[in-house]
Amino acid sequence: MPSARHILIVNSRSVHQPVFVVGAPHSGADLIGRALKASAGFHVTIGQPSVLRTVYAFARRPSMYQGRTQAAATVIRDAFAQGWQVTPHSCLECTRECRTAAGLAADAVGPCVELRGLETFGDASPDLIYCAEALTYAFPDARIVQVVRDGRDVVASMLADPLVMSWFRPSFVNVDTEFPNPFFGIESPEDRDLWPQLSPAGRCALRWRWSVRLAARLHHSLPGGQLKTIRYEHMMGKPDEALADLSRFSGTTVQAAGIRNAARTYRSRSRGAPVLTMEDASQVEKLAGEELRRLGYS
Ligand SMILES: [Zn+2]
Repeated sequence: MPSARHILIVNSRSVHQPVFVVGAPHSGADLIGRALKASAGFHVTIGQPSVLRTVYAFARRPSMYQGRTQAAATVIRDAFAQGWQVTPHSCLECTRECRTAAGLAADAVGPCVELRGLETFGDASPDLIYCAEALTYAFPDARIVQVVRDGRDVVASMLADPLVMSWFRPSFVNVDTEFPNPFFGIESPEDRDLWPQLSPAGRCALRWRWSVRLAARLHHSLPGGQLKTIRYEHMMGKPDEALADLSRFSGTTVQAAGIRNAARTYRSRSRGAPVLTMEDASQVEKLAGEELRRLGYS
C-alpha cells in the first residue's frame, strides 16, 4: 500500500478516480476503451508512447519492479502525467485507434479531447493489463474495468491475429530469462518446463489463464466500487444492460453506438470468433479448464 497520497495534476486538473480498462487480448477491452473515450467529460488515451513504454517495461521485465512498489508507482504516474497532457498535438503520437476513437482523421494531430468539461482521465492502451496491479498502487482511487471472455474464443481470435502471434517469435520470447513471466502466462516451474513443447494454442491459453487469475486477484484486493467486471458475452448479448452498468460505474453516460454495433455483428455471426480445432480446444481445456469452469464457460 502506498504510504502517501499523491495528487497528480494534468493540465491544471487533479486526476481523480481515473478509469482504466484491462483485459486479455481480444476480450473486448478495446471496445469499452473506445466507448469511454467518446463519452462526455472523459479523456481516455489509447496507446500514448509514454504509457506504452511503461506497459511493455512491466510486461517484459516485471522483475525490475518486484518489491519496489513505490518506484513502480512513480514510474506509472510519470507516464500518465505525460500521456494525459492535452496539447494541440497531443494525439499526434497516439495509435491510429486513439485518433479514430476520438473522431479525428487519420492525418489529424489532435487534440483528441476538449479541455472544456474534461472531468475524468482514463486509459485503455493495449496490454495495459500487465500494469493492472501497479496501477492500483499508483492511483489508490483508480476505477478498473476488467473484461473477461470465454478463453476458447480468446485463443481462437489470438491465433488469427498476426500481431499477437508475432510476440511468440523466438527473438521476442524471454521465458528463459524472466520468471515468473506474466506476459507469457508462466507462473510455475512446471509452466516453464512445459512451454517449449506447447502448440501456439497452448501458448495463447496460458496468456488467457494468467488474465483470469489476475482478475481474481483484483477482485480480492479492490473494493466493489473500484472494480467492474464485464463479461464480453453479456455485453454482446445484452448491450443495453452492460452499457447501463458501465455508465453507473464510470459516472457518465457511456457512448453506446460502438458497443451496440459490435453486439449486432456478434449476434449475427454466432460468438463472433473463429472456431478452434478439436486439438486446440483440448489443449486449452487441459491448460485452463479450471479457469474456464470457474467463470462458467463449459
Ligand atoms: Zn490519442
